[in-house]
Amino acid sequence: MKSEKLTLAIQKSGRLSEGTIELLKLCGIKVSNGGNHLKALAEGFPLEILLLRDDDIPQYVSDGVADIGILGMNEVLEKKKEITVVKNLGFSKCKLSIAIPREIAYTGRNFLEGKRIATSYPVILEDFLKENSINAEIHTISGSVEIAPGIGMADAIFEIVSSGGTLLSNGLKEVEVIMKSEAVLVSNPSLSTEKQKLLNKLLFRIEAVIKAKRNKYILLNAPEEKLDEIMSLIPGMKSPTILPLAQKGWFSLHSVISEDDFWNVIDNLKCAGAEGILVVPIEKMVL
Ligand code: ATP
Ligand code: MG
Repeated sequence: MKSEKLTLAIQKSGRLSEGTIELLKLCGIKVSNGGNHLKALAEGFPLEILLLRDDDIPQYVSDGVADIGILGMNEVLEKKKEITVVKNLGFSKCKLSIAIPREIAYTGRNFLEGKRIATSYPVILEDFLKENSINAEIHTISGSVEIAPGIGMADAIFEIVSSGGTLLSNGLKEVEVIMKSEAVLVSNPSLSTEKQKLLNKLLFRIEAVIKAKRNKYILLNAPEEKLDEIMSLIPGMKSPTILPLAQKGWFSLHSVISEDDFWNVIDNLKCAGAEGILVVPIEKMVL
């Protein structure tokens, strides 16, 4: 019997590729360079990989040509295909914003009434306008949206903004953030039981990688009388590991802390008398 494989659609090249390949690598899956081909081989997991333009991924996944896909949430919302968002992946983060010429005063959302807005995301923009009962003309263009106001084609734009550099160099300013996006794992809503099992296995790996990225392993030295206070600051997964040092009355404490409260915790630990604090990355984390 032919053993079951999952077909994964990923972006062929662009702003999602690096994060996708890196995530797969951390999951123990090596993608061999497909060059210009549509398919790539994966080692380390029963996967077949399709290399596509990100715009095409929702269709491939909803049709079942691919079982799962990795793409930006913005494309999921824009294409409105029948696919299931399985997991936020935490990379390729960006926002979709409305921007207008710098010299024009923005008076709030009512400013957009009757205006021409250029975008390559007409569906998301239309949803936003409807929700806010704004009547505006949507001009769909596929690239270089930022130049539209400068050439008199639009009064505003709705586009992806990351650093804002492109807006600035086109004399625009961001006035509304409509959505935040990041890469997501999506799946066909009706996978076979076999394929769903494989997806769960892959998801288990992805979750271990994502958790590890959000946490750090911390090691520090502390005098015996400070142990209780320090332990309460770094509770760890179950409780911290405590090992006696060669020097009497001193201990080494090992634990896990979240990246988010990293700097607060470090400050508090120092105040509580911790010394020789080491913080190291975690590669995988399984709870
Ligand atoms: P394709 O040729 O595959 O259609 P594209 O030109 O449409 O590529 P990219 O610019 O590579 O797309 O962006 C792919 C996705 O990456 C976007 O849909 C968005 O989710 C995310 N993204 C876009 N711009 C940025 C950015 N500046 N920073 C981070 N993520 C971004
Ligand atoms: Mg695209």
